[in-house]
Amino acid sequence: PLNPSDPPRRVLLARPRGYCAGVDRAVVTVEKALETYGAPVYVRKQIVHNKHVVATLEQRGAIFVEETDEVPEGSLVVFSAHGVSPAVHEEAASRSLQVIDATCPLVTKVHKEARKFAAEGYDILLIGHRGHEEVEGTQGEAPEAIQLVNDPSEVDDVQVSDPEKVIWLSQTTLSVDETLETVGMLRKRFPLMASPPSDDICYATQNRQEVVKQIAPDCDLVIVVGSRNSSNSVRLVEVALDAGARTSYLVDYAHEIDEQWLDDARTVGVTSGASVPEELVDGVLGWLAERGFGDVEEFTAATETLTFSLPKELRRDLRPAK
Ligand code: SF4
Repeated sequence: PLNPSDPPRRVLLARPRGYCAGVDRAVVTVEKALETYGAPVYVRKQIVHNKHVVATLEQRGAIFVEETDEVPEGSLVVFSAHGVSPAVHEEAASRSLQVIDATCPLVTKVHKEARKFAAEGYDILLIGHRGHEEVEGTQGEAPEAIQLVNDPSEVDDVQVSDPEKVIWLSQTTLSVDETLETVGMLRKRFPLMASPPSDDICYATQNRQEVVKQIAPDCDLVIVVGSRNSSNSVRLVEVALDAGARTSYLVDYAHEIDEQWLDDARTVGVTSGASVPEELVDGVLGWLAERGFGDVEEFTAATETLTFSLPKELRRDLRPAK
């Protein structure tokens, strides 16, 4: 029971949090495809890296597959927000699949940069996580020109053909600070290395990290709502710990929160990754309110207004709104 003399308990709710423009577009794409063409709609890979979103779309008739060869010849397939390599487009075409490409336009931007600089003869150092779908897609744009740099420990192994023609690019959902560290180390080796023409780490990743940095020093615990395979969500836990939160955990659902995390906690920070629907955050806030953390203060570090139009293949077929 609460002692009346205890200092108040509160929640600092980070803003921005949750859905970014690219995730919103990708999820709506699958929903509209289901409405427009009917189930089943095949989706290559998880449309966005969130367990709940995938399970909800599955219930509505989406079928998630790992590769296009699992999609029956001639069927409709949606490509996920993380992007695909040109080889995947070719394979889909060879099997007469009807493709709706839900790649986030900010990932497509990095693909274009990769093509352009490869064509100009640059060695491209792609900072990103080995094995992540986005990185595989980007690498596929120019496999001969791109080397992956997973983290600062790999900088010493990088080899380039002309140190005057090197550029770094990155995955969109990395830690801003760790990436700067990697870039700093690369630049020591290649002082003439060029930078991406505009930030590759996307606005949503940057904003979600920035607000967590601002609230973390005041938090005993930071709960990040998100899935384990969501790069930007996992980064938020790291950012919270680096910025001074006493503890921080990632949960998909409120029921995964351990009561013991609240021991001695007075201020709990709450945020969510870019692939997380707000209803899951509401679940966490409800869980906390039941345990004395009903006082919620929203802390805003940036305002987001960006939206993306739906993929053109889909827009063409959408029924006009009545
Ligand atoms: Fe696009 Fe960034 Fe969202 Fe990824 S996190 S879908 S790059 S806006």
